[in-house]
Amino acid sequence: MIKGSCCCGAVKFELLNQPSMMGTCHCSRCRKVGASTIVFVRKEDLKWIVGREHVQLFEPVSPYIYGRCFCRICGTSLGEILSDADSFPIAANALDTELSVRNSLHEFVDEKPSWYEICDQAKQSKGHPAPS
Ligand SMILES: [Zn+2]
Ligand SMILES: [Zn+2]
Repeated sequence: MIKGSCCCGAVKFELLNQPSMMGTCHCSRCRKVGASTIVFVRKEDLKWIVGREHVQLFEPVSPYIYGRCFCRICGTSLGEILSDADSFPIAANALDTELSVRNSLHEFVDEKPSWYEICDQAKQSKGHPAPS
C-alpha cells in the first residue's frame, strides 16, 4: 500500500500496487508545474481516500496536449490523476511511501536547464522516447 497526498492534506489517495515505472521529463511544462519526476499507475490501483473534489485540472493549451492536475488549495502537482486512461502518470512528489521503482528514463533532455545535472544511468532521449 502506497500513500499519496498533497502538501495541505486536503487530497489523499492510495495506490494498491507499486507504480509500473518512473521517468523524469525535463520539458518546460513539467518543470514549471513541479512534476518532472512521474510514476505510472494503473487506474484500478488508485483508491481515493479524500479530497478528489479539491483536484483542479489545468487544461492543456495547444500545442501542448497533457492536462495538469493540482490541489486547488495548496497547488501540489498531482500529474494526470483524474485521467480515465488505463495507466497514467502522477507526480512522484505527491507520494509519501517509499517506492521500489527507480527512475528509468530522462526525456526532453534538450530542454533541461544546465543547473540540473543528470546523475544516474537512466536512458535519455531528446523528446519522447522512441518506442522500443
Ligand atoms: Zn492541498
Ligand atoms: Zn514534460
